[in-house]
Amino acid sequence: MKTLFFCILFFISIQAVAKPIVFTEEEKEFIKNTPLVKVGMMPDFTPFSYYIKNTPVGFEHELLNILSQRTGLVFEKEYAKWTTIYTAFKNKEVDVITSISHKKYREPFTTFTSSYYDIPIMIFVRDDFGEYLGIKSLEGKKVGVLKDVFYIKELQKIDNINLVYYDTYEELTKDLVFGKIDALMQNLTNINYLIKKNLYSNLKLASELILPNTKKEDLRLGVIPEKPILSSILQKGLNSITKKEKEALVNKWIGSIKEYKGGHIELNKDERAYLNTKTIKYCINPDGLPFEGLNEKNEHSGISSDYYSLFENILSAKFELVRTENWNQSITFIKEKKCDMLALGMETYERKKYLNFTSNYLNVPLVVATKVDVPFINHILDLEGEKVGIIKGDAFVKILRQKYPSLDLVEVEDINEGLDKVKSGKLFGFIDTLASIGYEFQHKYFGELKIAGKINETLELSMAVVKEDEVLLNILQKAINSMTNDMHREIFSKWIPIKYEKGVNYELVWKIAIGSLIVILLVVYWNRKIIKTNRLLEEAQKDIEEKNKELKKLATTDKLTNLYNRRKIEELLEFEINRSERFNHNFGLAIVDIDKFKEVNDTYGHQVGDKVLKELANILNTNRRKTDFVGRYGGEEFVIICPESDVQGVIKLMETFKEKICNYKFSKVENKTASFGVTMSQRGDTIESILKRADDALYQAKDNGRNKIEYK
Ligand code: GH3
Ligand code: MG
Ligand code: MG
Repeated sequence: MKTLFFCILFFISIQAVAKPIVFTEEEKEFIKNTPLVKVGMMPDFTPFSYYIKNTPVGFEHELLNILSQRTGLVFEKEYAKWTTIYTAFKNKEVDVITSISHKKYREPFTTFTSSYYDIPIMIFVRDDFGEYLGIKSLEGKKVGVLKDVFYIKELQKIDNINLVYYDTYEELTKDLVFGKIDALMQNLTNINYLIKKNLYSNLKLASELILPNTKKEDLRLGVIPEKPILSSILQKGLNSITKKEKEALVNKWIGSIKEYKGGHIELNKDERAYLNTKTIKYCINPDGLPFEGLNEKNEHSGISSDYYSLFENILSAKFELVRTENWNQSITFIKEKKCDMLALGMETYERKKYLNFTSNYLNVPLVVATKVDVPFINHILDLEGEKVGIIKGDAFVKILRQKYPSLDLVEVEDINEGLDKVKSGKLFGFIDTLASIGYEFQHKYFGELKIAGKINETLELSMAVVKEDEVLLNILQKAINSMTNDMHREIFSKWIPIKYEKGVNYELVWKIAIGSLIVILLVVYWNRKIIKTNRLLEEAQKDIEEKNKELKKLATTDKLTNLYNRRKIEELLEFEINRSERFNHNFGLAIVDIDKFKEVNDTYGHQVGDKVLKELANILNTNRRKTDFVGRYGGEEFVIICPESDVQGVIKLMETFKEKICNYKFSKVENKTASFGVTMSQRGDTIESILKRADDALYQAKDNGRNKIEYK
């Protein structure tokens, strides 16, 4: 029911403003059957489609809203940088693309509507460029342009210009500011926005770019040719927008187009009457330099004062300062209507209840000042658990409190109290704008305090007018709109000496950024180094372990046969003797001696003898039980230890050995036999005693004619 009510209301409201569009049956059918039209837009194409605090805004959004109301189409917007969205459009992943200029080569995949705005293309250079005397001045220079802009082919035809291609406006502008390129070509509105936003003070407008075969940048809607009815509906929607409506759109979003022509303000009758009769009373923050404050003569001084002088001139208005003790008193005064406006203030939810705000004309990053020995502060949450000062009543006190409840914010009366408390250790840090803290640092605290980091909050300053006074609000907004970049720049550079130099810049924020980068790089470097060192250590460790294993093996192995050596055999014997003593378990021991081995050496030489030794070792090793140990005790004598065995078991094993040896065809020698002396462990045995018994048994075997097994 409720929805129905709103639907009706909605249609009534459309009927009230819309000029009737006559749609064909086909078009009506299309609108009815198309729940969503996918539109590709840019997220950074100021002022046409961009973001303010996570909300997409701009000329094109308002245009699409109007089209939606007029046609009944619903748009699903997708945001991506131009190259991405343009490719998506070519691939038919979106139905419509905004901000597209008409070009013949785009026709196969684009149906263009008429243009809804034509933007002049401008050439911007740095202040130090010298006099710009037409396109020839760009010869041999690096000129930044956005990839895929419609005039790129025409630009490429010009000889001797080195074009540098960019993906985003931000990068393009930044590179010009910091001297990586000498000039840039872009539509006026975008660049103006960025210059203002970042307070870039070293750029100037060189000229409008006039290229053969190139008109102003025409912004149109592009529709995929597969949907001809969609394009005709959108065209009808655009046609229904009156000249006045379009003017309103342009004035709202593209006021800056007038800027480079210089500040002309058109006031209406009411506004002129207001200025003729009224003195505008305003309050300031008396301790807010360089933004605003009072000088030695108790006069208004600072950035806002310069704006007021300018406004007095261009508006022929009379402004009068209402003096206050501090910022809090100024807030009280405006609530009590003792003044009409605040020269500079941040728009907050709370304040909007009693104040109207102009658009913000000053954006200032917030920073933290600490003692010099404090490490770099990367994020506001690095301040968690520390007492951090902030000026009482500042707009961002509440914002910071809400956003970061874990911070211990301590309100102070003014910047000097805050910084003094940091100096004396009563506060860990103090948050304020870069400009204010920087300004104080020039006069005091030098060498004692430092800016420890930038926090990701920006103070956006506007003029604030009491709610009832809408005429004044409009006048001030017009005055702000009329300001050229040069005018802004002149004021900023007077109060905030920001210096940009080629490749290097000395502005504090950048210093901080570079500082943090160095810290990050160092951390990364050390981490990498540690990781690398650890890896090397690990490798070395492995190497050592392997070497140790090898050494151990060498120490316990007989080189020729790879069996245990005498040392190891004695070690094992000792172990088995101890074990059998302790658990009363017996083990068997056998000595194997090759019969008439001397003859082998004598007949075939030592090498063949060695070979026979190896072969015999192999017979013993492969036929032993898993639990038995076989070693070479010396010469052509071998020892076999049989743990957990009885006599029968040991003798049986020896019989196996004896048989295998008898049947084996040794190299050259062919047939060879061995004799076996067997014994079992006894209580009180030593290595010598047990070996002696085995040896005695062996002697017996030899004595009995060899190739025998004897037990003792
Ligand atoms: P039997 O044991 O049957 O009494 O006669 P036999 O010839 O084996 O006697 P004896 O123990 O005296 O000789 C052992 C020979 O083994 C002496 C030595 O030349 C040889 N011999 C000892 N160690 C090695 C060795 O590492 N390589 C070679 N090729 N011969 C060795
Ligand atoms: Mg021997
Ligand atoms: Mg022998």
